[in-house]
Amino acid sequence: MLNTGSNTFIPEEKIREIRASVSIVGVISDYVSLKKKGANYQGLCPFHQEKTPSFSVNEEKKFFYCFGCHASGDVFTFLMKQENISFNEAVKLLARRNGITLPEKPLSPRQLKKQSEKEALFEINREAARHYHRLLLEDDRQAEKARKYLENRGIGPETIKTYGLGFAPDRWDTLTKIFQENGKKLSGALKTGLLVKKDSGHCYDRFRNRIIFPILNIAKNVAGFGGRIIDTGEPKYLNSPESEIYSKRHTLYGLPHAIKEIQNKNKVILVEGYLDVLSLHQAGIQNSVAPLGTALTENQIRTLRRYTQDIVTVFDADPSGEKAMVRSLAPFLANNIAPRLVLLPEQEDPDSFVRKHGGEAFSEKTDRAGYLLDFVIEKIIKKNQTDTPRGRIEACDEIVPLLKQISDEMERDLYVQKVCRRMDLKEEHLRARLGRDKSPKSALPAKNRSTETASASGKNAEQLILQLMFYHPEVIEIIEHSSFLDELTDPDLKQICILISAAYKEKGEFSLSDIMTAIEQEDTKKRVAAFLMENPLAAEPAKVLQDCIRDIRLKKNIRQREKISALLKQAEAARDEDLSIKYLAESQKLLKEKQEILRLVINT
Ligand SMILES: [Zn+2]
Repeated sequence: MLNTGSNTFIPEEKIREIRASVSIVGVISDYVSLKKKGANYQGLCPFHQEKTPSFSVNEEKKFFYCFGCHASGDVFTFLMKQENISFNEAVKLLARRNGITLPEKPLSPRQLKKQSEKEALFEINREAARHYHRLLLEDDRQAEKARKYLENRGIGPETIKTYGLGFAPDRWDTLTKIFQENGKKLSGALKTGLLVKKDSGHCYDRFRNRIIFPILNIAKNVAGFGGRIIDTGEPKYLNSPESEIYSKRHTLYGLPHAIKEIQNKNKVILVEGYLDVLSLHQAGIQNSVAPLGTALTENQIRTLRRYTQDIVTVFDADPSGEKAMVRSLAPFLANNIAPRLVLLPEQEDPDSFVRKHGGEAFSEKTDRAGYLLDFVIEKIIKKNQTDTPRGRIEACDEIVPLLKQISDEMERDLYVQKVCRRMDLKEEHLRARLGRDKSPKSALPAKNRSTETASASGKNAEQLILQLMFYHPEVIEIIEHSSFLDELTDPDLKQICILISAAYKEKGEFSLSDIMTAIEQEDTKKRVAAFLMENPLAAEPAKVLQDCIRDIRLKKNIRQREKISALLKQAEAARDEDLSIKYLAESQKLLKEKQEILRLVINT
């Protein structure tokens, strides 16, 4: 049911093995639609909002980089950021996905100490989830009504087990009793919100007399809980508060169990609550998820967009359902998604519908679903009496704000035409109402981007050296022989080049993560990542290296000659003959050196 034990120590070789054997393009493709461009793959960055792709992935070097927000790293970093999970969880997730077995071995006391706080919190949630689950299955007296409730809602024992449903008895100290004895666990349980502290310092259980729905993150760790009251009482649904490991805005109930089917069907069905998700999954419609108690957020839409563009929303056909429908449009339109809509007959929710008509009837409805925006516009037109001029104007006033939210210019234009045809309006009139709103978003980023790429590609010979070492490690030996790394003037680059050279000598290889971990300063990291992500230099690395070395030495020579010539001028002005002769000689020597540099050929 739930992810078991995070007390594993993963050896370094295993991490290297996974990094090397996993296709980073493949993993990231699960979230971002990537297109091959030169040596890299490109797509829309999942870490910042953009319309033109600035997110690159390099398979050869197992690395990603975003030219917009400078997010960078390897496949583990990507998953950590994307799924909000720890390094260990990312390693395990990939190992599972690729059938690599990890050796399990208990942590030593020192390693235990180092175990991240996040993992400790997940562990506490896991313990609570197990306890609640056991109580639902085993507690005879109190849990009976919870079991009855689930039975009445048609939730079977398999589903209860798979989704780890539980029961919190009507007591103040179910969990408090368990966690109280251990100070660390107590403070952890307070942090995840399982327990609440009174002003008096006493703690009590947040969830009481409720059916418990563990909310899993993508790595199937328990991030939080939802609790539904069993009898009457308020609130009907209670959620874990936001914590270090739980963010309502980012999480969707049922997603970890739904991902595969969402990808298979290339479609996701959005329903309202826990029980809707569970009954749909049970009826074989496993590509369904639900937001957690609040209206759908942009973050959740962006999460879903990684798996599919086809989002089908399900609403009840009552006034409050219709209001919710209109409200839900904005975040979709802002993210370039045209959601579709299934309207259920009045008094029905997905749960009651599949129980009455079966999963297939529901699937049919979702297959035939029309567009939500079309539905809402039609609704507005019908509501206003558009056979009168006044009614048409009123309808326009309601429709225009919706059209303004469409971020894609062409789509907006098509809707303008459609609405005008439908209401027999002149397009110029509707466009005038839309105003000068030519999507201000589209103009700015493009301008920023061009200056950004320009500066990123303005690389010099020292940067080229690093790029060469990175993509053509065979040149490292040549560099070692010519022992010119000392001559690099950029201190950051120099440090990194020396580091790569040392790592290569020692292990015969190095990974970009090795380099990244070694760089301390964040902006240096970004700078280095930026030019390493550029297309690798193709032909004749040895020749390019030679040109670089020549270039660097020439520049150094020029600087030295400039210095000497200034000193010479000073000496001549002071009529100091001895010094003048000395500088003149040095100047001659540097000129000779310059000739040598120009003739330089490195043995390869
Ligand atoms: Zn980005």
